[in-house]
Amino acid sequence: STQEKTPQICVVGSGPAGFYTAQHLLKHPQAHVDIYEKQPVPFGLVRFGVAPDHPEVKNVINTFTQTAHSGRCAFWGNVEVGRDVTVPELQEAYHAVVLSYGAEDHRALEIPGEELPGVCSARAFVGWYNGLPENQELEPDLSCDTAVILGQGNVALDVARILLTPPEHLERTDITKAALGVLRQSRVKTVWLVGRRGPLQVAFTIKELREMIQLPGARPILDPVDFLGLQDKIKEVPRPRKRLTELLLRTATEKPGPAEAARQASASRAWGLRFFRSPQQVLPSPDGRRAAGVRLAVTRLEGVDEATRAVPTGDMEDLPCGLVLSSIGYKSRPVDPSVPFDSKLGVIPNVEGRVMDVPGLYCSGWVKRGPTGVIATTMTDSFLTGQMLLQDLKAGLLPSGPRPGYAAIQALLSSRGLGPDAEVLGGVRPVSFSDWEKLDAEEVARGQGTGKPREKLVDPQEMLRLLGH
Ligand code: FAD
Repeated sequence: STQEKTPQICVVGSGPAGFYTAQHLLKHPQAHVDIYEKQPVPFGLVRFGVAPDHPEVKNVINTFTQTAHSGRCAFWGNVEVGRDVTVPELQEAYHAVVLSYGAEDHRALEIPGEELPGVCSARAFVGWYNGLPENQELEPDLSCDTAVILGQGNVALDVARILLTPPEHLERTDITKAALGVLRQSRVKTVWLVGRRGPLQVAFTIKELREMIQLPGARPILDPVDFLGLQDKIKEVPRPRKRLTELLLRTATEKPGPAEAARQASASRAWGLRFFRSPQQVLPSPDGRRAAGVRLAVTRLEGVDEATRAVPTGDMEDLPCGLVLSSIGYKSRPVDPSVPFDSKLGVIPNVEGRVMDVPGLYCSGWVKRGPTGVIATTMTDSFLTGQMLLQDLKAGLLPSGPRPGYAAIQALLSSRGLGPDAEVLGGVRPVSFSDWEKLDAEEVARGQGTGKPREKLVDPQEMLRLLGH
């Protein structure tokens, strides 16, 4: 029967990893793929991470939408795996399960004062301006004149750019109305991006740097001393890193031309990279109520290439500020006690996407490799996991005989729901892809009046109400 020939597969998480894995799995002529997502809406960090002023990056959504439109693919949002349904239950219902649920925890600074008001993770700040429901209460206080971002990666740069961009330049993006309102009132004039290591170790691209250098109304502050001796070292590094470092070096050491000098002189805002500084403590205000600065240990580099480490020189320096955003990386959470998890690395232990010691269980994306790499990296890695799964299927390594797939899970979900409205709602009510398309149309319509591509819905209860759930 067709039932017997239909491999039932499910994917947990609908970010790039989930969608690219599904796309590859659908190359199998009969496979059916269900994508479970805890948010009521799809696309993971493409919706909730990628900066609102980079709309072109979000074009991958068109590819994901095509995948979702396949007759053999279904999206089930508003279903949290590990809470509403367990991984063993999915393993019962499907021939194979792929975990692609990303890396949602941020790494803590683990320094005194981290818990003070005025300190938050860059990830929460990003979630706030991008409409992630759980971050809507963040209320960042932008009444100070200096913000310090701990970290020098692309997320740190995104956050600095959003803090310093003239708000009228964000008006036609999909940034939330609430965030735009707060940014309009912002008094932040200076943003420091602090890194333990030097200019050769920054983790952003030349394109992202150029965008910062050209940011309207803002000027760069770089200390030429940080670049001493770099000219020689640059020759040995790979070309992309070389070009990036050359641009940093030029910006730090060359006198700008007259037009650029005039632009910088009239700039009311500034951003700077503070190298060779390691955060030791968040300093409290005199009344002890909030953050008023960061104590930094001065460092120098030891070792070569990848092994370069920052070691403290013994000198300290205090950097006053009213807002501290930590952007030092993420880690995944364990989703279910039955799934092996490496809590040190924050990933699911796997070999090319096959979860160690658990046949039929796979992983892809940030939960597989760790939270680094762009969407393109995640794509390659997810296709590889898809390939391994299809190989195992072909080799007869997955359970034989029919599996019920969504029918079994739907029955479980209708009897569950731990939210406050569980009883009223009558179990967990999944949001299908056509439901999402209704929400999408609603968002686009709400944006139209103000010239925005969309006004994101930020309240899951409102979304479910709009769907009549
Ligand atoms: P995610 O995109 O995080 O997807 C995981 C999904 O799983 C989420 O939808 C989540 O809600 C869901 N989930 C989590 N737990 C559960 C559960 N228990 N049950 C069900 N579902 C669950 N890359 C670029 O190429 N360009 C950029 O401009 C760019 N900007 C970025 C900006 C930020 C702030 C960040 C953090 C990343 C950025 N990236 C960018 C990197 C890119 O977002 C990642 O490479 C990619 O999103 C990783 O894909 P993923 O599917 O593994 O994780």
